Amino acid sequence: MNIEHEPHFLCRWGQETLLLDGNVYFFPPNSSASFLGKKPSEEISWDTDTLRSSVIPVLESYISKNGKPADWPDFSPIKDAKEEIKMNSRTINKYFLVIENENSTTGREVQLDAVSVSTYYVRRKIDNKVVEPRLYLLSSSRAPDIFLKESNSHSTLTSIMMKMSGTEKRSQLSEEEIKEAEKPLNSHQVNDEAVHAADLLQGLRYSFYNEIGLKKFIKDKSLIALKNFIHQLYLHLDIDSDLTSSLSQLDDWIETKLDENLITHNEWRDKIQIIFYNILPTSTEFVGCAGSKSHLRGYPCSLWTLFHVMTVHSSYMSKLAKNDPPKVLMAMKGYVKYFFGCTECCKNFLKMAKNVEDDVRGDQEALWLWRSHNRVNKRLKGTPSEDPTHVKLQFPSRILCWSCQKRSNQFRVSNVVEYLKKRYAKAHIIMDHPKRKLFIHNSKSVLFLSQFDVGFCIVFYIASVFLIVCVYIYFWRKRACCRKVLPKRKYLSQP
Ligand SMILES: Cc1cc2nc3c(=O)[nH]c(=O)nc-3n(C[C@H](O)[C@H](O)[C@H](O)COP(=O)(O)OP(=O)(O)OC[C@H]3O[C@@H](n4cnc5c(N)ncnc54)[C@H](O)[C@@H]3O)c2cc1C
Repeated sequence: MNIEHEPHFLCRWGQETLLLDGNVYFFPPNSSASFLGKKPSEEISWDTDTLRSSVIPVLESYISKNGKPADWPDFSPIKDAKEEIKMNSRTINKYFLVIENENSTTGREVQLDAVSVSTYYVRRKIDNKVVEPRLYLLSSSRAPDIFLKESNSHSTLTSIMMKMSGTEKRSQLSEEEIKEAEKPLNSHQVNDEAVHAADLLQGLRYSFYNEIGLKKFIKDKSLIALKNFIHQLYLHLDIDSDLTSSLSQLDDWIETKLDENLITHNEWRDKIQIIFYNILPTSTEFVGCAGSKSHLRGYPCSLWTLFHVMTVHSSYMSKLAKNDPPKVLMAMKGYVKYFFGCTECCKNFLKMAKNVEDDVRGDQEALWLWRSHNRVNKRLKGTPSEDPTHVKLQFPSRILCWSCQKRSNQFRVSNVVEYLKKRYAKAHIIMDHPKRKLFIHNSKSVLFLSQFDVGFCIVFYIASVFLIVCVYIYFWRKRACCRKVLPKRKYLSQP
């Protein structure tokens, strides 16, 4: 479906057209040139996000009255996908299935997206237990079907489909985007769209041991910068309660060192080892930030990711006053200035961030960082620091967010904000960091016992004491009763 802006808003899909001139008109298949369109009885939304889904009832109503034109997608849900493949295997290259509940329109929207790609076949199947629509690539052989993605957004599912090569929408993509789309698809790349907690923790590990941990002394301005950075991490790296609690301990400890105005290399290392014993990874591998060669991507990628997670949290998830200073950006600036090992990066970043204190407010931090990162991407495009398997694009590419860019390559900022929130918010981060077992070093554990064990012991202890007291009261009262009753009996038994 194309949306064009001149001479009217034209929403064209195949031969059928919806003309939007303040009203919405439907042009059924084979309409004559003089036909001026019919106003559908169904309500059509003007909101670009819901326009597509509100067109579906119009099309379905046409199909129910006139039958389905040959080149329209089949919206009716299927029961047996394998049977369908058998019937169509000669003409169809890729067969996709969207499993969704009956209230979802996503599957039909994806079907509309695939209309221009004749070798794709998309059908939908209803399963009311499914909450978010799930996209599968079906296999005609007996091999298992491949689960690709779960999402409510048709553009997310469509972009995954387009990654499966052979797309005929190439004309709408830049050369770099085509390269990106043609990467062989495996589970790792499907998750390119997501942020991995493993990368965030790997970034922290590198920063704590290989950047801050390399300083002989931390004092004066670098100590203040460290304090601010750790405090902002504690406030805005909200991905795991154990991590937050460790960052809080570190933050408190640094606070106690401010009077002394000194943290030595050994003090820092010892503290990090104790506080983050159970939290930071022991391996040095990146997941989403893994480069095709050892010198590419890795730590700088994870640092950007960390910064984006923090700014998205501070701008959109925390209750910041709109006019607050940009504390996360200021803390990042301090970190880059005093600890980031890449001198050139530091020089360029400080130049960009020269006036952030005055120019940016608390709720604009995420957008400022997004724009600045794109400027860096533009500058580094084609340089040796570009990983050929992850070319530098203006982010998010159309493959990641179809609706974020206009045809003119300019961004739709409101859609970018929504995309950033989705990508960098806690709910969407893949929690793939293996935790090490709690051990005596972790201050939150007591002699090999986890927090849960300790809590359980306390409850058990209180319950036992309560039971003993009850039993004691019971026997005490029984004895008291006996004492009262016995003399009476004695008295009664006397002749
Ligand atoms: C503060 C800083 C400054 C740097 N300055 C330089 C420099 O001057 N010269 C130099 O050679 N290298 C610099 N680097 C390193 C460089 O920017 C890349 O990090 C490195 O080349 C690795 O690139 P990458 O492909 O992993 O993606 P990165 O650019 O590291 O991006 C990491 C991930 O963030 C996402 N992303 C990309 N762009 C955006 C965006 N605009 N908004 C939100 N998310 C986005 C993507 O998913 C990407 O995979 C800097 C790094 C940092 C952290």
